[in-house]
Amino acid sequence: MIRAAVTCHTIRVTYSDTVSDTAATADIVVAVENLAKTFNGTPAVAGVSFTVARGQTVALLGANGAGKTTTISMLLGLLLPSAGTIRVLGVDMVHERHRVLGRINFSSPYVDLPRRLTVAQNLTFFAHLYGVCDARERVARLAEELDLAALLRRRSGHLSAGQKTRVSLAKALINDPEVLLLDEPTASLDPDTADWVRAYLAAYQARTGLAILLASHNMHEVERLADQVLMMRAGRIVDRGAPGELVRRHGRRTLEEVFLDLARGAATGALRHPAAQ
Ligand code: ATP
Repeated sequence: MIRAAVTCHTIRVTYSDTVSDTAATADIVVAVENLAKTFNGTPAVAGVSFTVARGQTVALLGANGAGKTTTISMLLGLLLPSAGTIRVLGVDMVHERHRVLGRINFSSPYVDLPRRLTVAQNLTFFAHLYGVCDARERVARLAEELDLAALLRRRSGHLSAGQKTRVSLAKALINDPEVLLLDEPTASLDPDTADWVRAYLAAYQARTGLAILLASHNMHEVERLADQVLMMRAGRIVDRGAPGELVRRHGRRTLEEVFLDLARGAATGALRHPAAQ
């Protein structure tokens, strides 16, 4: 009788390195070069290049339609690039993504977990899907850390938006990923829970060396979490730097002011301020 080989991976425990600039450049886990995506002849992403290092958080900031979700979807392999390359953990994501999918994960408020399954069933399902050996322990640990114990028996379709966001984060960490793509990780959360989730993510990252690519419209969140910000407009990166560096360079007081400068500087696509109409 032939028995299928069961492959699973145990969860990493600690990450002790502090990410310095030197380590960051030496330990690139995401490398995107000249990435482009065109829909029916219209460019949504028009040649972006960036890297994310182990233990680093890079944030994509830009107005609606700037190309953030399209970029993340290409990194996840949900969309094929029209041009350019994406390497994650050294693997070409267009041709060989199956080799690294188990080491990546994502969370998005726009992707629902199967609604009829309970939270526990969903998390266990994803743990098995990702080949987590100690699935039961992993689910229990994340449920405890993310304060989900009281929700485990509830159907996912019956959760509030904020509860779904926390469950989605637990699902995103179920395989102890090395690379995490986060789309609006605190959408729908009340300010207190949002603050708690940001602190949790920062502590988790310090412990594990997780690399995070974040898309968010929340400037406070980006200032709190991001080491590097990529300012996107009309499918291009129009500026980049650490949040404080961008603020200083633009002679502004906050990242929000920098964002408004760049968004309103667009020749097309930017909304006119109501006072100017
Ligand atoms: P938001 O902040 O609103 O989520 P975004 O920066 O994530 O915006 P994208 O969703 O990446 O922007 O969209 C970039 C551009 O690509 C937009 O003009 C959008 O209309 C277009 N686009 C995205 N997906 C498709 C698609 N499947 N078909 C056609 N056009 C698309």
